[in-house]
Amino acid sequence: MRCSVCGAPAQVEVRRRNQAFCPEHYRAWFVNEVRRNLKRHQMIRKGDRVLVAVSGGKDSLVLWDTLTGLGYRTTGFHIQLGIGDYSKRALAATRAFAEERGLELLVVDVRESFGLTIPQLAQSTGRAACSGCGLSKRYLMNRVAADEGYGVVATGHNLDDEAATLMGNVSRWQTDALVRQGPLLEEREGLARRIKPLYTLTEREVAAYAFLAGIEYQHEECPHAEGAKSLLYKDILNRLETRMPGTKQAFLVQYLKKVQPVLKEGLAGGDVELRRCERCGQVTTGSVCAHCKLWDRAYARAKKRRLLLESRGFDPRPKVDRLKPASEA
Ligand code: SF4
Ligand SMILES: [Zn+2]
Ligand SMILES: [Zn+2]
Repeated sequence: MRCSVCGAPAQVEVRRRNQAFCPEHYRAWFVNEVRRNLKRHQMIRKGDRVLVAVSGGKDSLVLWDTLTGLGYRTTGFHIQLGIGDYSKRALAATRAFAEERGLELLVVDVRESFGLTIPQLAQSTGRAACSGCGLSKRYLMNRVAADEGYGVVATGHNLDDEAATLMGNVSRWQTDALVRQGPLLEEREGLARRIKPLYTLTEREVAAYAFLAGIEYQHEECPHAEGAKSLLYKDILNRLETRMPGTKQAFLVQYLKKVQPVLKEGLAGGDVELRRCERCGQVTTGSVCAHCKLWDRAYARAKKRRLLLESRGFDPRPKVDRLKPASEA
């Protein structure tokens, strides 16, 4: 197999495009795909400051690497979930990446801010860890972006993630989620723009870039991911992809192009009015946001179990640790 650009021995094959690349041209191809996605959807606009959500895994670190390489003004944002050693290793990988490249990193520790780790929140609400975790992560991304003045939040969702989410939404015809899904969610009053610049690149392609760019990331999965439905959808899509290269991309991209606009039009007028949460001031649809409700419920139970002092009330303000690059510290 030879590189489609220079004819040197190829190291990475992109079957769905019928192309193969040497290390240098693979990296160039990958960065160009990201650049095209950014441009196609005008994801980052002049003067934007970008908050990059970084977990310490390959997708988010590759995203941060490519965005800084393309010259954007970025700051990393990591959330410490308190999931034992898994979370400690995630922070270590994220910090090492930021320090090596002299990048600014913001860190919020969920337990330091709100009093409970994600597993304790799950215990105290009786809901699966991923449900409270997802809600808290979304809340913190929006909240920290608003408080710190970032107009854009970038996440590392790749093609496999997005196609699996689409399959999940389609299997139950979740129309609310189907109209919202996409690589760009425009800013609304008080909410930063949300972008997913890696949405056309597969997990395998992201991993190949991380390897060739020498990015050291956390390989282990969160222990709570085991048994997640998204893994089943990914497995089904991977089997289809092996037999019919290009299926994943066609499934997602053609949905966004051909079906979503029709669906959006059909559901027009269903836009809900946004207001401010009475407890925390964040944008929401009801009087109190889902995040404040969840944590209030968790506090009631956690106090009974003596995980928290009786006198402690839920304070929705996150405590942000700022890790400046050594040159500015
Ligand atoms: S798998 Fe669940 S608990 Fe773990 S990081 Fe993801 S959403 Fe959070
Ligand atoms: Zn080449
Ligand atoms: Zn709230």
